[in-house]
Amino acid sequence: MQRRRLIKGMVTSLAALQSGIAFAQDGGLSKPLNAALAERMQFKAKHFDQDFSDDFYLNAVEKVTLRQVLARLTQVKKDAGFGRFNLLTLDELLKFASKGALGSFTPSEIGFIETIFFRDAKEYGFYGEKVSTTMTQSIDLSKTVKIPGTGHFLFKGRPEGLYAELKRDVGEDIVLTSGIRSIVKQLDLFLSKAAQCGGNLSRASRSLAPPGYSFHGSGDFDVGKIGLGADNFTDTFAATDVYKRLIDLGYVNIRYTETNFYGVRFEPWHIKV
Ligand SMILES: [Zn+2]
Repeated sequence: MQRRRLIKGMVTSLAALQSGIAFAQDGGLSKPLNAALAERMQFKAKHFDQDFSDDFYLNAVEKVTLRQVLARLTQVKKDAGFGRFNLLTLDELLKFASKGALGSFTPSEIGFIETIFFRDAKEYGFYGEKVSTTMTQSIDLSKTVKIPGTGHFLFKGRPEGLYAELKRDVGEDIVLTSGIRSIVKQLDLFLSKAAQCGGNLSRASRSLAPPGYSFHGSGDFDVGKIGLGADNFTDTFAATDVYKRLIDLGYVNIRYTETNFYGVRFEPWHIKV
């Protein structure tokens, strides 16, 4: 089991600061008016994978439900296939589960999923905007294209076009590492992260948008360097020649920059579309 490190020395309570939160537009960047909150948010984002005394945790009952929900999600991922799971709707998830080896989601598990989806993520420190407000939202498959060799999909139009430009301008060693993600896919990623973080939703949301808050549902995608594997989702990617070429192009925007005020870690791999 991973040892938790608790950051001490920052005594300001984020919850106390949040009560009077107001944001100012600063050159397109939304920045909290409260300087102490801004500093606290960036400190946490920088130390995204650590536990803080004012982080928000699932309770003991929810942690048990979390494991049950994850087991069923894993079973459906196996049954539906990795590619299709990226686009799976909630209705399809429930249907797959009912026919799967572990059986249907229980009412309390569905209640837990709803709580995760409808809870205001600001409560645990995620300040990104809610992109999808409908939990049962589906993706129009006719507007998507599967990118060969990746298991991932992109929306036709600007996302597909931008990825083609990146392949042309950066070179063949850039690869799509995550494309369109349905609410279900984002739920699976977020809950897996929450489990890894011992039920700490604040810590999970510092490196993964909660379901409904991800721009992967509306066009954004992740890229990496071929051969780098899981390190494509770490700071290692920012040190690669692929990342350098990407930034040198001048037309690429990173969604979660080093100085973002969403309460999210720096994600050099996440392309804003
Ligand atoms: Zn991403």
